[in-house]
Amino acid sequence: MLADKDRIFTNLYGHHDWRLDGARQRGAWRGTKEFIEAGRDWITAEVKASGLRGRGGGGFPTALKWTFMPKVSDGRPHYLLVNADESEPGTCKDREIMRHDPHHLVEGCLLAGRAIDAHLAFIYVRGEFFRERQRLEQAIAEAYEARLIGKDNIHGWDFDIVVHHGAGAYICGEETALMESLEGKKGQPRLRPPFPASAGVYGNPTTINNAESIAVVPEILRRSGAWFNALGRPNNAGTKLFCVSGHVNTPAVFEEEMGVPFAEMIEWHCGGVRGGWDNLLAVIPGGGSMPCVTGEKMRDARMDFDGVREVGSSLGSAAVIVMDRSTDVIRAIWRLSAFYKHESCGQCTPCREGTGWIERVLARMVEGRAQKREIDMLFEVTKQIEGHTICGLGEAASWPVQGLIRNFRQTIEDRIDSYTYRSDDDFVPSIAAE
Ligand code: SF4
Repeated sequence: MLADKDRIFTNLYGHHDWRLDGARQRGAWRGTKEFIEAGRDWITAEVKASGLRGRGGGGFPTALKWTFMPKVSDGRPHYLLVNADESEPGTCKDREIMRHDPHHLVEGCLLAGRAIDAHLAFIYVRGEFFRERQRLEQAIAEAYEARLIGKDNIHGWDFDIVVHHGAGAYICGEETALMESLEGKKGQPRLRPPFPASAGVYGNPTTINNAESIAVVPEILRRSGAWFNALGRPNNAGTKLFCVSGHVNTPAVFEEEMGVPFAEMIEWHCGGVRGGWDNLLAVIPGGGSMPCVTGEKMRDARMDFDGVREVGSSLGSAAVIVMDRSTDVIRAIWRLSAFYKHESCGQCTPCREGTGWIERVLARMVEGRAQKREIDMLFEVTKQIEGHTICGLGEAASWPVQGLIRNFRQTIEDRIDSYTYRSDDDFVPSIAAE
């Protein structure tokens, strides 16, 4: 379990003062000027030494992403774009940062901005996070007031932060749709290349990082990259915010060391599984777009990128959804598929049409009103979507269904076997006719 001394988010539960004075007492904004003066290469090297990987779901090395930005200016401004459009089902960690520890994020923007030679950051906040946006704006106003950011600030690096409020579209969390939306256009993903580091917001070099990734940067610099890297396991360094929802006794958001055993984590932070461990049916370990796995497989899993991959899923955003035996797992995955169908922006045929097929077939499978051969056909449809779309929503819609079929095929077959046909209206069309 993570020792208190190694926690980064010391006000995660809002027990202390979130304002500048309180944040400063807990260590925020300490040494910031020296870090800025140490320069771009030093900040990047320290974050590289920390082993920090993106906390939004992709797990891409943060420092490596920063190095994609142009080294020599061609006259265009550089931008930092912070993704706080936290909309993945089950994920609510960036929300807690903005609510209770917003100065971690504000200071992180300044330091990451220095690392990529940017004087302006945009923070794109999820539309539903109204109060969180207000809290963040208050923290930013405090930072301006104290001349921690802004023109001629005490740190010697001119830096502005603009908060942009989303309008409730899940797809705007995809980084290129985020940029489109920020520019005032319809939130639809862009084709890549060009990549954001060469032509991002308004055609200028842009780095897009998740809010948690940015919020941990100040403490990494204060305590050293080596400190962060010593936590967790090789290739899975540091601490991480986990959000556990579903059938545990006390759902919670908490900070833990990467690689913590799943069962220990659930016992320690969430009071165990509702009804005991024998009652655990399934777990989605990384947010709604990741494959669900059986409870048996998850019990011994280590909660980091490699550990969750070993059990056939992905850590994603570390949003852990626990389902006990009262859950209709087919229905649960159908509900997710309805979400992805609704949120598809409709640009790509495989996603636009495929998410509809998935949702409709799963809706019949929930009742058992399907044919067994459709299970493999459904799997094949997800394979035809995966990798054939502009953005990752195709995978997000496909992977939960693949997880369901891999791990709960027998449950689907039993449901189909148990269905009693009552009339001609119950005729089951094959997937090809859908
Ligand atoms: Fe839009 Fe789906 Fe294509 Fe992404 S995969 S661009 S959400 S249609």
